[in-house]
Amino acid sequence: MVKVPYVNLKEQHRLLRREILSAVDKSMKNCDFVLGSEVGKLEERFAKYCGTKYAVALNSGTDALFFALKACGVGAGDEVITSPNSFLATATATVALGAVPVFADVRSDMNIDPDQVRAKITSRTKAVIPVHLTGKAADMDPILEIARKHKLAVIEDAAQAIGTEYKGKRAGSFGHANAFSLHPLKTLNACGDGGILTTNDEKIASLIKQLRNIGLKDRIHSDVWGYNSRLDSLQAAFVNAKLPKVNSWISQRRKNAAFYAKNLSDVVICPCEETYERQAYHLFVIQADRRDELAEYLLKNGIETKIHYPIPIHLQKCAENLGYKLGDFPEVEKQSKMILSLPIHQYLTQKQLELVVKSIRKFYS
Ligand SMILES: *Cc1c(COP(=O)(O)O)cnc(C)c1O
Repeated sequence: MVKVPYVNLKEQHRLLRREILSAVDKSMKNCDFVLGSEVGKLEERFAKYCGTKYAVALNSGTDALFFALKACGVGAGDEVITSPNSFLATATATVALGAVPVFADVRSDMNIDPDQVRAKITSRTKAVIPVHLTGKAADMDPILEIARKHKLAVIEDAAQAIGTEYKGKRAGSFGHANAFSLHPLKTLNACGDGGILTTNDEKIASLIKQLRNIGLKDRIHSDVWGYNSRLDSLQAAFVNAKLPKVNSWISQRRKNAAFYAKNLSDVVICPCEETYERQAYHLFVIQADRRDELAEYLLKNGIETKIHYPIPIHLQKCAENLGYKLGDFPEVEKQSKMILSLPIHQYLTQKQLELVVKSIRKFYS
């Protein structure tokens, strides 16, 4: 029997039932199902939340990465530097443009190492995608400095980083164009697929608004070939209902994280937090010896865990054409064997947190 579920969307929607149903009701009355008024409202509020001038709602986080790269001029043959310990989508978006993902190893905090980025720059490098993995900010200052010096676009993969802060600013406000996912499993989620892109560049925002709607500038004219990556009004309405809760969710996740760190740091490696950042704890990833055995033991005791991600992207079959091999990224590869994501969601009870701690301590005793 599951005692500690890894996610608890049922509880989220039980608590938000009234808001969700009223969003459905309003949508059925308005009938502006695609790119309707709720989408505009979400864009305005999301930009304000992140501290950017613009936000553009899209079909998915993957699309947000794709359009961010495209709007920054990345195309066939260009190189894009990123880390290989992310969700596949980070690299997929690059490949979809005919560009080449170039991987760089990470630091012990699981985020891209600026020195490794510098070492991977060639004359064909066009952009760098720092991933704020788990909701911990990548070290943006040196990355932005390298990018400025080499005239590279910076695209934050902030899919896991709604509410993450770095030196007083929110994730999604550092790069030229930045990607968030609204997938049901993210901290701020739609009830289906969705994504959103943030930028301070008016030209990028208006270009992507065109591209997401088949390239149309108005009802009739188009001067670019576009795509269909429009967000449904209903999904935007769901996210609008959830956005006012996100800060309290993050606070709860931070409390859960503090409890784990306090009670587990002597038996497993827990995430670290620098004084200049505020982690949003989309994930709480420990690094543990005998990880697979531990996960199995926890499951037997009713505790669900996950691994983000068991196979680094450079070792995926789809990446064979890129020519990487085992041993290319020692830090990522070492971490991939030790990482385990514990339940961290905002609906965990004190009893559940204690059970997780007790079970992990018992496993190692
Ligand atoms: C979820 C995620 C994405 C992709 O978002 P989708 O909305 O599923 O397309 C990209 N990058 C990272 C790091 C993610 O966690």
